[in-house]
Amino acid sequence: MKNKFFKSVSFKLAILVTIIILTLISASFLFNSQIDKLKKQIDGIYFGNFVPLITLDLVLKNYQTIIKCKELTNNKCNITAEKTVILKNWKQYANSYKTQKERVIVNDIDKSIISSFKIDKIEAYELILKQINFLKEHEVDIAYKQRREFLKDYSDMKNYLFYNLVAIIIVSFAIIIFIIYQIIKKDNQLTILNKKYKIDSITDSMTKLYNRKYFDTIFDNLPFISNANNWRSAFIIIDIDFFKQYNDTYGHDMGDETLKAVASELKSYFNKEYEYVFRLGGEEFGVVLFDTQKDILIECLEDINKKVVNLAIEHKGSKVLDVVSISIGAVIYEAHSYISANKLYKLADENLYKSKQNGRNQFTL
Ligand code: GH3
Ligand code: MG
Ligand code: MG
Repeated sequence: MKNKFFKSVSFKLAILVTIIILTLISASFLFNSQIDKLKKQIDGIYFGNFVPLITLDLVLKNYQTIIKCKELTNNKCNITAEKTVILKNWKQYANSYKTQKERVIVNDIDKSIISSFKIDKIEAYELILKQINFLKEHEVDIAYKQRREFLKDYSDMKNYLFYNLVAIIIVSFAIIIFIIYQIIKKDNQLTILNKKYKIDSITDSMTKLYNRKYFDTIFDNLPFISNANNWRSAFIIIDIDFFKQYNDTYGHDMGDETLKAVASELKSYFNKEYEYVFRLGGEEFGVVLFDTQKDILIECLEDINKKVVNLAIEHKGSKVLDVVSISIGAVIYEAHSYISANKLYKLADENLYKSKQNGRNQFTL
């Protein structure tokens, strides 16, 4: 039961759906990770370049205010407010991430700023202005560099996403095609097996005629089918003459070969639509002809008697001829005559008996 499920179509469909879901999940993870990267870079540009420039600008402006005030008041000016703003912003700038080289310069300027307030002279403040301007230029340079890097990363990321998506789609597509191919293949195999089983189940393995089981199905329905279609139909029983003696004379294996030869002769003779040849058992065959006429039937019966004799299979033990022959009992079913299949069989069998009684190698209708 478990095994059956794993081989079933629903299991394969479940795999298909799983693949699609996994593909969607992995694609969304991929997008997410790339978008996170992008966000970090934008953050870097904003907090790494834009914010430092604002803080440096604030330091610069306040220094300019101090210088102007000192010039206007001839050095008698209260700079407490400006100093607080400068120190606060400078501290913020100096504490942000810096490379080793930058750190050396920033530490130098840090010392200059502290000493500038101690010296408290316009020249000292102007020196700081120059230094801060230098830092600003440096930050702008870095910002340009980072922007270039960001644009390159962005285009790389776009390509990366595109190729990944194409790869995911191709792989999923290949897997889906493979599973569909497997399903179709299995399905075809099953159809072939089913057909073969159906044929096997209604075929006699030795003679390749329809078997007794299939005969029962068809024959039981003969009256019904004939009535429904307003057909005159016929049922024929054929029995090989003195077959026991044949086996005794030529052996059972040769007997089998003769059975096959007679069967094949009957099968090729009754090969039209609505004509069925069965092996009823042993050396006895049955033929059902739907939609036939009496004169045609008589012709057929004469023919098959002749055809079997013409096979010229030597039969020294036969008391009729020195070749294999058959005796036939036949009946016609008229549409709406309401004779049961059982009764029909009995009548045909009685006719076969008559043929045997009257000397064999003949038919009785
Ligand atoms: P009759 O002319 O009255 O029909 O005589 P008969 O010998 O044919 O009649 P009977 O029914 O007594 O014998 C049938 C023989 O068919 C008996 C059996 O050995 C043989 N037979 C039945 N089935 C097979 C088979 O599959 N292969 C072979 N070789 N012989 C079979
Ligand atoms: Mg018999
Ligand atoms: Mg016989």
